Amino acid sequence: MAQIQILSDDLINKIAAGEVIERPASAVKELLENSLDAGAKRITVEVEAGGKRLIRVTDDGCGMSHDDALLAVERHATSKLRTVEDLIAISTLGFRGEALPSIASVSRFTLETRPAEANAGVRIEIHGGKMRNVKEAGCPPGTQIEVQRLFSNVPARRKFLRTDTTELGHVASLVTHYALAHPEISFVLKSGNHTILDAPPVGTLQGRIFQVLGRSAVDELVDLGEINTQFPAYRPDTWFQQEPAKPESPGEISARGFVSRPEFQKVSAKTIYIFINRRFVRDRILLKAIREAYRHVLPVRAYPTVLLFLDLPHKEVDVNVHPQKTEVRFRHQGFVYDFVHQAIRQAISGGRPVAAAETQVESSVFRERSPAPSYSPGPQRSPTERGVPGGSRAEGAMPFSLESSPVEYPPAGQRLPFTQLQSLTQEAPTEAVTPDALPLRENIANLRPLGQLNNSFIVAVNEAGLWLVDQHVAHERVLFESHVQARRTRVVEGQRLLMPVVVELTPAQVAVWGQIRDELDSNGFEMDEMGERTVAVKAAPAGIKTGDVEKLLHEIFDNVEKESRQLSLEALQEKVAASVACHAAIKINMPLTDSKMQWLLGELAQTENPSTCPHGRPIVLRYPLRDILKSFKRI
Ligand code: ADP
Ligand code: MG
Repeated sequence: MAQIQILSDDLINKIAAGEVIERPASAVKELLENSLDAGAKRITVEVEAGGKRLIRVTDDGCGMSHDDALLAVERHATSKLRTVEDLIAISTLGFRGEALPSIASVSRFTLETRPAEANAGVRIEIHGGKMRNVKEAGCPPGTQIEVQRLFSNVPARRKFLRTDTTELGHVASLVTHYALAHPEISFVLKSGNHTILDAPPVGTLQGRIFQVLGRSAVDELVDLGEINTQFPAYRPDTWFQQEPAKPESPGEISARGFVSRPEFQKVSAKTIYIFINRRFVRDRILLKAIREAYRHVLPVRAYPTVLLFLDLPHKEVDVNVHPQKTEVRFRHQGFVYDFVHQAIRQAISGGRPVAAAETQVESSVFRERSPAPSYSPGPQRSPTERGVPGGSRAEGAMPFSLESSPVEYPPAGQRLPFTQLQSLTQEAPTEAVTPDALPLRENIANLRPLGQLNNSFIVAVNEAGLWLVDQHVAHERVLFESHVQARRTRVVEGQRLLMPVVVELTPAQVAVWGQIRDELDSNGFEMDEMGERTVAVKAAPAGIKTGDVEKLLHEIFDNVEKESRQLSLEALQEKVAASVACHAAIKINMPLTDSKMQWLLGELAQTENPSTCPHGRPIVLRYPLRDILKSFKRI
């Protein structure tokens, strides 16, 4: 083995950069947080080539003196932390003192800064971690940091960067997060000479949501109100202390924000924004609490829009868990989980007064149990019983699952497949009749419809058995295949809308639009740019109603944005086709005539893959004739 050596500072910085700076958006994050910590009221972010060529963050914050600026680019230099005690109660966004030197070690880095009271500012240039130039500069009060050619000296990192539009999308979502958390601060995001976001200060969170996410988002959301409750009294560990410790006074946790009504659904968790003490986090426990709150009101693969601001004493949450500080650890995890779950549940069920919810939270604290062992849905159970964070539900126990259908089936727990019906007759079931969700394609021919179940499922028979066909997903499959096929051979014609539909895009969607504009044109959309973030849709694919256009487009954008990897043209075409098919298809809860059912079953039989829909849900369930005969003891 070679001799042990202490690493050079430059190498340490590059290693740290590997942890903290993964892509342009992570550099933007560090710079934005610094600007916020510096008390800026106006922050401008400019990028070129998705931030790969240039990132420039300008703020009007407190700035740095000449000496401080030189220190700031040194490793472990921070003005935000002095002692270990400070670390426990950290209130600034940054504290590790490694962002600036890390970024400077993997780019061409320029810092210009001036405190308002100083006569002149300073300009520092660092190339790939090497100090190149320090000089006096005439600059406005505040700080401007330029990061050029990120990772140009680290080819291994550079290789992992995605296309400019994908990287721009990440930057745009990030700026969106911070803009939402700080309505009182002005945020501007520019890509080249295109302004993607311009949000002047506003007085309310709702005002900021309107600026950043658009009118439609505001309409989808309900206000959580202001909910708060006390943490349980906490006794510190005493095993190492001589004197019995005084119990600490319990702190308070409060939640505010907005959550979407159940009828509005999103395709990914990207629309869930959680802020803890105004820091944007992606916390598994809280995500789980939110998903649980929407369980039974949202289909399994759909996500709500949630803007949740939690404020709690700094000692209740450890932010120093992750180099990028997006993960946190709670001192009272089960308590926070219950609190969030109930706050959201109450908002979407729209009823109970806040006080009632509070008492419930208090009575259910501290029950951090292991995951509930079996799946027994029912609205009355307490959130902890429903499977605590990290737990998984044992849904697979059902012989088939309708959970993924686009609607809610309230009696989901009472489904009685033939197996159970049989046991009701007291006879011990010998052979169970269970439906197969993936029958052979040949079997599906010559289906004869008998009628509809619940105006949603076609009941049909043929020589292969008894069939249930989900009318929505069946039609979705038919439309999907014909749309994909048409698109592969030519440009698909759209239908003119009577009136153009004006659609507002979020900053991240603007980035996606740049990427998929041509493909949308080729699918029958005709869209004109109206403003930086609005488009007028003049034509849409056949079968799409005017009222559905906005939802459809948002879904396509969000679906593409969700992919962190670059989509192939083929995959993109399929995504567009899947969304179009879903919106144009016959809905459930819709009566169908015999001839319509006959037509649909015939079309389904012609498809290449009649058993699952483009989103992977089953289309048909078959009870094979043989099994039915066996159950009736005919064979
Ligand atoms: P940290 O934010 O963890 O302290 P950084 O490397 O990000 O570490 O920044 C180092 C120090 O530089 C900060 O503690 C702060 O004092 C100063 N600094 C960085 N950016 C700014 C800014 N935009 N305005 C004022 N001071 C800044
Ligand atoms: Mg920092």
